[in-house]
Amino acid sequence: MTRVLVVEDDPQLVRALVINLRARRYGVDPAPDGATALRLAAARRPDVVVLDLGLPDMDGVDVIKALRGWTRVPVLVLSARRASDEKVAALDAGADDYITKPFSMDELLARLRAAVRRTGATALAPGTALVTTEAFTVDLIAKKVTRAGRDVRLTPTEWHLLEILIRNPGRLVTRKHLLHEVWGASRSDRTNYLRVYMAQLRRKLEADPSHPRYLITEPGMGYRFEG
Ligand code: CA
Repeated sequence: MTRVLVVEDDPQLVRALVINLRARRYGVDPAPDGATALRLAAARRPDVVVLDLGLPDMDGVDVIKALRGWTRVPVLVLSARRASDEKVAALDAGADDYITKPFSMDELLARLRAAVRRTGATALAPGTALVTTEAFTVDLIAKKVTRAGRDVRLTPTEWHLLEILIRNPGRLVTRKHLLHEVWGASRSDRTNYLRVYMAQLRRKLEADPSHPRYLITEPGMGYRFEG
């Protein structure tokens, strides 16, 4: 049975989540605040955590940081609509995905299934050499990309960006993280760099660069590789 830790202080939402999750045979532990969440996470070892960022006793981002000290359990963040900074902070702290309130139960369940499915695939296993899509193949050891049997020439910067995304399949990687990794701390506000280089990568790899299938933009947040 898949165990879900639901960290949320809104009793109505908790009730709806518990009913819906139990109906689909998830085991559910509700936690109304951050301290209870951390205690239950250690005691119950959930397979996935659904975490409201606005908790009565502590910031949800600090809950993520505390969890990340010892576990890679997938964390799906529930966030208020306008709080874009908050979502980015949560993702940078190690959340795996977010969903904006109000959300439909179907969407939450789909995100939850995806988060659980990615467990173990969140980071590629060390030694993984080849990542293959229907459009292109990436050799992470030889640092080569081929498309329709031909080598695709990437600049070192393009390669670095692509490699980070490919090594986190299905995961949203924040703009801040990409900028920090590829250009360094002093360039972490240059989101225009990312737009330019992502456009170049799409031109080289996507069949239809204006409707990307593999290198997906999450508006205001970052990018995601969908294999
Ligand atoms: Ca709340």
